[in-house]
Amino acid sequence: MAAEHRYTLAGVMGWPVAHSRSPVIHSHWIAQHRLRGAYVLLPVQPEHLHTALRSLPVLGFAGCNLTIPHKIAAMSIVDRVDPLARRIGAINTIVVEADGSLSGRNTDGFGYIQSLRDAAPRWRADAGVATVIGAGGAARAVLVGLIDSGATTIRLTNRSWAKAHDMAQEFGPTVQAVPWDERHAALADATLLVNTTNQGMHGEPPLDLRLDRLPLHALVSDIIYVPMETPLLAAARLRGHTVVNGLGMLLNQARPAFEAWFGVMPSITPELLAAVNATF
Ligand code: NAP
Repeated sequence: MAAEHRYTLAGVMGWPVAHSRSPVIHSHWIAQHRLRGAYVLLPVQPEHLHTALRSLPVLGFAGCNLTIPHKIAAMSIVDRVDPLARRIGAINTIVVEADGSLSGRNTDGFGYIQSLRDAAPRWRADAGVATVIGAGGAARAVLVGLIDSGATTIRLTNRSWAKAHDMAQEFGPTVQAVPWDERHAALADATLLVNTTNQGMHGEPPLDLRLDRLPLHALVSDIIYVPMETPLLAAARLRGHTVVNGLGMLLNQARPAFEAWFGVMPSITPELLAAVNATF
């Protein structure tokens, strides 16, 4: 925790990183809690990642977030990776410890689950089948979050079969791989549908998925936040589903990182939402 008299520095390291909303989020919390500190953009090319990370303690940083393309590469540079981050296979948060060593964590799974709880407080992971579309990096955090929240049956479908198959093998019997051609039928009995692919993102075509088999009480989430309402979420909303976009995941993954550096667990307030919405 930062001592009151100290100036605490943190930031987001990526390449490119100029588009990141993280400075708006963390700067808002620094001001809200009247802390002395700053959260800055850290544009670092992949070949300089090792030097940049090892410089954090020297420069007086409390830590940093990591974004594309550093989340996996950083795992072999930091001094320790916590077990949750190891299961997810990536780190999105680095904490500089008192002795100057670097600890890697991953808060994306927490962020995802918390975004569901914020939008649908009565949602329970163990209430029924969760169908996850996509088996990329973000899907790993979503799967670990769901498993650790008590999910009992997760259907995982991905355009490239091998990735879904291998991920199901890795995460155990809770996760069942479903061939891509059977994705529409994989919505039957689901209480949660989540899109973790990039389909529906700004500049990408909509996700090719028919919702007719999805029970109307199912929660529908899309971890994309540009746009806030993807074609999937628009279609689900018209069918009457409760829908959750990816902004809640982005905001909630930032909370435990901020707490680790600044010593305060921040909240998602209407003022924060207004500040972030103004960036779109
Ligand atoms: P990734 O590792 O590159 O994975 C991309 C996924 O999309 C893979 O499953 C891929 O399938 C699938 N895909 C790509 N093109 C497709 C197509 N034409 N048809 C069907 N599936 C297709 O990316 P990622 O890091 O997981 O990110 C995925 C999305 O999550 C992005 O939109 C990103 O912005 C979003 N995200 C949001 C948050 C948040 O905080 N809200 C955090 C992280 C990521 P294949 O395996 O077949 O290629």
